[in-house]
Amino acid sequence: MSSAKTLHDLTATSDYDPNSMPVEKAREHIRAFLSPVTTVERLSIRATLGRVLAEDVISPVNVPQHDNSAMDGYAVRFADLKSDAESTLKIVGASFAGKPFQGTLAAGQAVRIMTGAVIPAGADSVVQQERARACADQVSVMPLSKKGTNTRSAGEDLRAGEAALKRGQPIRPAEIGMMASLGIGEVAVYRKLRVAFFSTGDELVAVGTPLGPGQIYDSNRYTIYGLLVRLGCEVLDMGVIRDTPEDVEQAFKDAARSADVVITSGGVSVGEADYVKQVLDRLGEVLFWKIAMKPGRPLAYGKIGDAHFFGLPGNPVAVMVTFYQFVRDALLHLQGQTRAIPLPTQKVLCTSPIKKAPGRTEFQRGILSRDATGQWSVRTTGDQGSGILSSMSQANCFIILPTDQGNVPAGSEVDIQLLEGLI
Ligand code: AMP
Ligand code: MG
Repeated sequence: MSSAKTLHDLTATSDYDPNSMPVEKAREHIRAFLSPVTTVERLSIRATLGRVLAEDVISPVNVPQHDNSAMDGYAVRFADLKSDAESTLKIVGASFAGKPFQGTLAAGQAVRIMTGAVIPAGADSVVQQERARACADQVSVMPLSKKGTNTRSAGEDLRAGEAALKRGQPIRPAEIGMMASLGIGEVAVYRKLRVAFFSTGDELVAVGTPLGPGQIYDSNRYTIYGLLVRLGCEVLDMGVIRDTPEDVEQAFKDAARSADVVITSGGVSVGEADYVKQVLDRLGEVLFWKIAMKPGRPLAYGKIGDAHFFGLPGNPVAVMVTFYQFVRDALLHLQGQTRAIPLPTQKVLCTSPIKKAPGRTEFQRGILSRDATGQWSVRTTGDQGSGILSSMSQANCFIILPTDQGNVPAGSEVDIQLLEGLI
């Protein structure tokens, strides 16, 4: 972890090289400056889907509440059973889920019992019905190997007073169900992160307007919108900002005032960055990096007032790659998911040869698929230009080639990161 207190301190550390910043290092530097939101709201559990828990959820009860049966069969006293032959017991009643047997089992007695039903007082084990033969009010049961067979103990899932869920836990369907199972209808979650974003570039035209010569549609704002909404952020779309110092300065001021995080695309590459840099130097503390990665070399990170700022490259694919590799992590942390794990990678066979020069980490777009024999393999989407957005749409994973890696012959094992489910 970086020990720098301010972004300026960071630039004075011995291994700080803004012109060749390893992916891991950049992630680490960013992480050192993130502090999660603290505002909390209480919501009914269904409304918390996609939010982050702001408190431990303490179980008010034992789960399960009672000793209960894991099988359909007969509740018995283990002491009544012979160890090497069938035992015949008298059936004195039944215990159904939600309708327990009211009495107490005496010696020589059994109770018909269903899965999930409460074990009657006096009983301690269950003989599954496949190992029992009933005839009128008598049942012959086979031996059991030990006391407690086919029963589930009260509190074996959760004990009353124990934390069922911890603060920082993202709430998914399993967590909503879990809270409901404890009878909890409302819970404290962190407020949504507010993220403002805009595009810069005089060549950009908003969707719905005809293209003039040399103009292109602004696609990054749509991609970023999708990525942010999937992450559960509140989005503030500020549109396309003209490439003038005045307009850019005003946009940064407005964004930083109203949001926790400001994301821009374009305008951070060499040449273009100069005036953006001057503007940001006036408004806050922002570092400009050349990341040792492909695509996505230029990246700016810093603070404008209390807002975190990510200046992503302009190229549409580079926007997505840098978002997945840097912004996603940071947003999860800021949302309060302080134990979020890094994106997992898997090793898989690559069927296409890949050209690569050592020196940068590459994130190629890949298609993971399974052949008729059940073997999984990956191939690239083809042309890997950082403006080729169709490659992101065809891809279902990144193929990650480490910094020192050279050309990859077909048939090599490579690391992949699945795209679906990441966000
Ligand atoms: P820049 O970093 O501003 O030089 O942009 C790099 C490339 O990405 C240029 O070809 C831009 O036209 C393109 N680009 C920048 N912003 C966007 C955007 N919002 N949507 C689509 N392409 C963009
Ligand atoms: Mg530009």
